[in-house]
Amino acid sequence: MNMSQKPLPEQYLSLSEEEMDRRIQQAKKVLGSKLVILGHHYQRDEVVRYCDHRGDSLKLSQLAAQAKDAEFIVFCGVHFMAETADILGAPEQKVILPDLDAGCPMADMAELEDVERCWNQITAQYQAEFVPVTYVNSTAEVKAFCGRHGGLTCTSSNALKILKTLFNEGKHVLFLPDEHLGRNTAIQLGLEEEDMFQWQRENWDIELPKVAPQIILWDGYCGVHQRFTPAHVDYVRSQYPGITVIVHPECSHAVVEKSDLSGSTDFIIRQITAAPAGSVWAVGTEINLVSRLAKENPDKTVICLNENVCLCVMMSRISQPHLLWVLENLQQGKVVNQISVKPEIAKDAVVALERMLELSK
Ligand code: SF4
Repeated sequence: MNMSQKPLPEQYLSLSEEEMDRRIQQAKKVLGSKLVILGHHYQRDEVVRYCDHRGDSLKLSQLAAQAKDAEFIVFCGVHFMAETADILGAPEQKVILPDLDAGCPMADMAELEDVERCWNQITAQYQAEFVPVTYVNSTAEVKAFCGRHGGLTCTSSNALKILKTLFNEGKHVLFLPDEHLGRNTAIQLGLEEEDMFQWQRENWDIELPKVAPQIILWDGYCGVHQRFTPAHVDYVRSQYPGITVIVHPECSHAVVEKSDLSGSTDFIIRQITAAPAGSVWAVGTEINLVSRLAKENPDKTVICLNENVCLCVMMSRISQPHLLWVLENLQQGKVVNQISVKPEIAKDAVVALERMLELSK
């Protein structure tokens, strides 16, 4: 990310909750169908309540692309999500991120230059056909790299299907940027540790194994999910006999292995919503989503696998004052904080996204 957020004008910093609420509602009313506000599941409640749609990053971008009337898409998420909305949206739509400092550290762990170095080493050493696959939690540049090299994107919902298809076709994979989603998915498909190789982006002297591994894992991770540990699973089981532990596959394999269920945010929401009254759940994902699930399922007990360590601070940078500031600028005909992916990057990134949509049908 090379843009940074300027401080908000003073007048937005001392408004009461009621005043902000009144003015956000007013701006929404004035902008009408020209505006769509999207909110990721991990977004805080005081922002989510203004969103027209709530979902994971890909679903939100697809919704944005379908909102044909919307001239402005305000994305209450992080930078890569706004980029994806811009790539998939119509050319005349403008995507706005209310705080430019809301980046995703995991996406930023795979920089194009490093990815190219890794790829050059792989293609120079092996005869086997490698395909670059990037989790959608990655920069537009990395998505474009995958598009240019016969690769594609994936989500935590379709990673299993995509890797299975590629492995069945005899292909090997460079998986970016989340090592945990890559490893958890590969293990689900029956791969052993010796079939995988962990790339280390800081280690310039790294040597690849002589025989091509089935999958090479980038060493990126989500700091929110990586903080859950097997000890947290043991602890909740000791406190709540019969509890079901459900975690996101961005958690380490040691945590996934000890849990009862693992899947995307969408999967977690569906499982808990459909669970019988009285059931007890420990959820290993971002705290805003877990707290909302607890509120929306009052007949069940829903707790966070570890309530102390799992706020996505980057997502939380989007606040009511930031939202109000972008909306009032739009009302005055000014677009601030627009996220615009360069056309030459977007054209290759969309190839990677479309291959994913095709392969996950
Ligand atoms: S939860 Fe993790 S992967 Fe998702 S935006 Fe936050 S840091 Fe990035």
